[in-house]
Amino acid sequence: MAESVHIHNLEKRFASPDAPGQEVHAVRNANLEVTPGELVTLLGPSGCGKTTLLRMIAGFEEPTSGDILFGERRMNDVAPNRRDAAMVFQSYAIFPHLSVYENVVFGLRLQKLSDAELKARADKVLAVSGLTSMANRSPNQLSGGQQQRVALARAIVMEPKVLLFDEPLSNLDAKLRDQMRVEIRDLQQRLGITSLYVTHDQIEAMSISDRIVVMNSGNIEQIGTPREVYARPASRFVAEFIGKANFPEAIVADAQTVDLRGVKLPVPTSGNVGDKVTLVLRPEAIALSATEGDFAATVRRAMFLGNVAEYLIEIEGLGEWLVDVPNPGEKGLLDPGQQIFASPSHSSLHALRG
Ligand code: ATP
Repeated sequence: MAESVHIHNLEKRFASPDAPGQEVHAVRNANLEVTPGELVTLLGPSGCGKTTLLRMIAGFEEPTSGDILFGERRMNDVAPNRRDAAMVFQSYAIFPHLSVYENVVFGLRLQKLSDAELKARADKVLAVSGLTSMANRSPNQLSGGQQQRVALARAIVMEPKVLLFDEPLSNLDAKLRDQMRVEIRDLQQRLGITSLYVTHDQIEAMSISDRIVVMNSGNIEQIGTPREVYARPASRFVAEFIGKANFPEAIVADAQTVDLRGVKLPVPTSGNVGDKVTLVLRPEAIALSATEGDFAATVRRAMFLGNVAEYLIEIEGLGEWLVDVPNPGEKGLLDPGQQIFASPSHSSLHALRG
């Protein structure tokens, strides 16, 4: 049965290893509700506190204050091995001297199951993990991706209520990472296990999550679906961490409209008329035309990136914008120095709060 996970006002302060008497505030007042069967990623740059938050949920780190609940049960004082949670690590932590099968059943052996039960549970998990034909191999006869599958199989064979992933794909090459991401998401959804997944890779977070928790310097900056955090970032930090963005400054014209250097754009804001607001303008949400558009611009740089052409354009009074144009192969590239027109797509504009 999947379980909900509630984090309530969770804090973690470490004694600073560098400055005696000082503290590192690794996690600040974190609040989060993960619903049963949901996959939530903790995303942020190195040092933002995501691993510390995950380790507190696992029970490897004691919170300074606040509560962790699985379902209705407070977990703060429950030992890690009694939390019904299993963790999948970056280093696979599989035993090199044991076969794939013995690695998978390792934790189950401590549960005093009959041999038949043990085998039935292991066979089922080996099958869903695509490892049946490799059960008797030793780990050094497996690829990195297969080893990570063993680590995952070893976690899910315990039938945990909560599955915790600590950057599980960091050691794999880019192609394998893409493939394993799909496998992990597929398996997690089929089994319906509530999961928390730590990563610093925004593409990984976007591709596997029901919701993303974006963290910065110990704070949760935003919690939302991949679509929400991309289209409606709560802060400049979130907008820049999840993709690329331009941040032109506009003036509030009325509750539904802003004025961007004389061009009225439909952007709802809560500010007063005349207030300055920062817009988030994604590079792919700007159309370029040789003949007409909202802003006259000059191409400063043109780069062919295969699926898109990435331009840096300059607009008088508004500075430089990044613009992505899809399928550049069909159209050919614009030349630096060329005069063009740029128009933001109205539907994808968003204003940052205050
Ligand atoms: P990374 O992606 O690099 O693993 P992270 O976002 O997971 O980073 P944490 O490992 O949670 O970050 O660390 C958060 C902060 O807490 C950092 O400033 C780190 O140096 C500090 N920290 C973590 N563990 C300890 C510890 N045992 N003692 C002191 N400070 C710690």
